[in-house]
Amino acid sequence: EKVAGVSWPSLEPGAAVQPVSGLGSVVTTSSGVTERKKEESPPTAADGTDPNRILVVGGQGNYLHLADGRKILDACGGAAVACLGHGVKEISDAIMSQVSTISYVPWGFLDTQSRRDMSEWLSQSSNGHFKKAWITSSGSEAMEGAVKLAREYFVWKGEPQRVNFIAREESYHGITLGALSMGGHLVRRGPFESLLFAGVYRIPACNAYRQKLSGETNEEFVSRKAKELEAKFIEAGPDTVAAFVAEPVVGAASGCVPSFPGYFKAMKAVCDKYGALLVLDEVMCGMGRTGTLHAWEQEGVTPDIQAIGKGLGGGYLPASAILASGKIIQAMEAKNAAFTHGHTYMDHPVVCAAALRVQQIIQRDNLLSNVQSQGKYLEKLLRDKLLSHPIVGDIRGRGLFWGVELVRDKGTKEPFDPELQLARRVHETALSEPYNMALYFGQGCAGQAKGDHIMIMPAYNVTPDVIETIVDKFAAVIDDVFGKLE
Ligand code: PLP
Repeated sequence: EKVAGVSWPSLEPGAAVQPVSGLGSVVTTSSGVTERKKEESPPTAADGTDPNRILVVGGQGNYLHLADGRKILDACGGAAVACLGHGVKEISDAIMSQVSTISYVPWGFLDTQSRRDMSEWLSQSSNGHFKKAWITSSGSEAMEGAVKLAREYFVWKGEPQRVNFIAREESYHGITLGALSMGGHLVRRGPFESLLFAGVYRIPACNAYRQKLSGETNEEFVSRKAKELEAKFIEAGPDTVAAFVAEPVVGAASGCVPSFPGYFKAMKAVCDKYGALLVLDEVMCGMGRTGTLHAWEQEGVTPDIQAIGKGLGGGYLPASAILASGKIIQAMEAKNAAFTHGHTYMDHPVVCAAALRVQQIIQRDNLLSNVQSQGKYLEKLLRDKLLSHPIVGDIRGRGLFWGVELVRDKGTKEPFDPELQLARRVHETALSEPYNMALYFGQGCAGQAKGDHIMIMPAYNVTPDVIETIVDKFAAVIDDVFGKLE
């Protein structure tokens, strides 16, 4: 029985449907197959006009300027990308300066100072933990490379049987085939399932709201999670596993769900026991978003390999990176080997110049401490104004990375019918008059994460008055949407 293709009624007659690059509308059929829902919209016109996309003509600070004259408060930076807001001249100056010096060299045998500076910055800012960075463009590329590096490490180490990975449900690691194979996002995997890696074993993610049993102590919960991982190692054959792959704070798949205290230490201990690597995906939650440069700094663990993206370049240019710890680089150098990997645009000098300037501004303006303090304020206001709302089930996050899960029944945590597309309604309502605010939304990870969720991820330089406006508007939007539910 297929329910894909069913459209949901617009909130207002004639209201434009605004899909975002989030989870979009998803439907789980009775056979368990998930599909993206077909949108009811006219086709893209030959001149490139897409009726589903609003034309943006400018941006400054926390605001996007639309062609229709409206100014949209950007409360999410796209998908947690625009970490310094819009229109920062220092960054465009850095880009222009690099473009006019040298705009491209192939990475194989030529180098640029901007690549060297970016690499050195990434190593120094991790206190030397990361010894090498490959600068890529998208988060998917970075994760694809991280997975390949984990595999090649074991080739260098003389353990070629390590071909399997353990990853989590309620996860998203990117859209290319290797990264998609790691992710548990059923909708995005859907049509490509047969092309994905067979050797990815999956365990539940760490979602205290959904998984912690009543009466279970924190220690018992963490220990249960570690046992899930250990059982999966044993099922896969412990010496066949290359790495455990996870997001420290789950982003788009379930809406800013932080790991539970002690979780990553316990998971890393299992990896160490069986000689597997820890690969962290900090594409969304990293580079300051949670209040420390790397989210793992709050977990008491260090990854062997890490992927970063989004906040690295703040959206000024497509920037991501594969970061390798000393352990990986030592194994590579011991074999006098090189990572069998590379894209034409890898280590792009202009991307490096843009990303470095973004990071220098964050450091110079002490913005990580602003992320911490404004994050606390955001959390407080969200809890004060929304936690008692009849459809707000959970408010969770870290730093300036906050998710609000909407449920039909707060007692049982029963989610809304996915056909209602509640999170999407919230997003559309927020984007329209009189609210004029951009939020990121997800419908749950297609049968895994259950609830609709909304994500609030403002720029790191956000001020208290903007935080207040975001929460006031958000609360009004939730009331507006709630008032229209049958
Ligand atoms: N990993 C995580 C945790 C992400 O959130 C994303 C994107 O949302 C990716 C990887 C893929 O990044 P990109 O869309 O830049 O390819």
